[in-house]
Amino acid sequence: MDKLYSPRVTKDVLNKHGFRLSKSLGQNFLIDGNIIDKICEGAEIENDDLCLEIGPGIGTLTQGLLERAKKVLAIEIDKKLIPVLNDTLGDYNNLEIINGDVLKLDLKNVINEKLGDKKIKVAANLPYYITTPIVMKLLEEKLNIKKIVVMVQKEVAMRMQAEPGTKDYGALSIAVQYYSNPEIVTIVPNNVFIPKPKVDSAVIALNVYDEPKVKVKDEKLMFEVVKAAFGKRRKTLANSLSSSSLNIEKSKIKEILNSVDIDPRLRGEKLSIEQYAKIADKIVELNL
Ligand code: SAM
Repeated sequence: MDKLYSPRVTKDVLNKHGFRLSKSLGQNFLIDGNIIDKICEGAEIENDDLCLEIGPGIGTLTQGLLERAKKVLAIEIDKKLIPVLNDTLGDYNNLEIINGDVLKLDLKNVINEKLGDKKIKVAANLPYYITTPIVMKLLEEKLNIKKIVVMVQKEVAMRMQAEPGTKDYGALSIAVQYYSNPEIVTIVPNNVFIPKPKVDSAVIALNVYDEPKVKVKDEKLMFEVVKAAFGKRRKTLANSLSSSSLNIEKSKIKEILNSVDIDPRLRGEKLSIEQYAKIADKIVELNL
């Protein structure tokens, strides 16, 4: 099969199958071989790697993965793309396709059944309408993943890797950095897709930790504290945490913050993950 990333080949495939791109499924297909190389290099794909791809489309990135990896499992929601993929990638014997919604699948079982128990790599040009839920599902379900390399909107990539005290730092930065070390691989202009998305994109690599970055007694509570702190971004920590669903009065919040050496007048955007973990652990300790 020709290289699917060639704009001419992509157009021929779409025409041959009478395929109409769906905006609501985030179908912006890649037409640039350099970007496919960057994603594969970012994921450091080697010939004994097992890969999961989310949203293969007509198989453009899939083809790059199939040529480098031992096996690729691709999950595509659009059933009209399955015959297209069978046509474009039918010659590869290291591909398995699942027609399904990645957000609804039991990924732990699917990965275990189809790829076994070795650590896998995830690569994808994600559908932008569900970027964050997909990335958070991959991280929170503690799957057996070594690295996730995905194309996302540029501003989402900036938020994922933002450091405390910067304008992009928020709940997403903390959630992603709790589970992984993010690194932007490359910024991608909008003219490498058919059709062109309105926003610029970026490829980001998330190097997944074996254990989360910090130890915390109650993970769920820590993320509630983070949500409360960023829910009212302009307020001080004392105010945002005391007026949240944590249901702890202001004097107690101040006491907690002081006891872990955090100034209650600070804003949530200044705190590191370690500091959020300390606040949550103190709340657990006080049995509040
Ligand atoms: N990988 C292809 C490429 O790079 O050209 C297509 C990428 S396109 C941005 C996103 C793909 O994700 C589309 O093929 C779309 O149908 C698929 N998709 C959208 N929502 C999905 C979901 N919930 N589960 C699985 N695939 C989904």
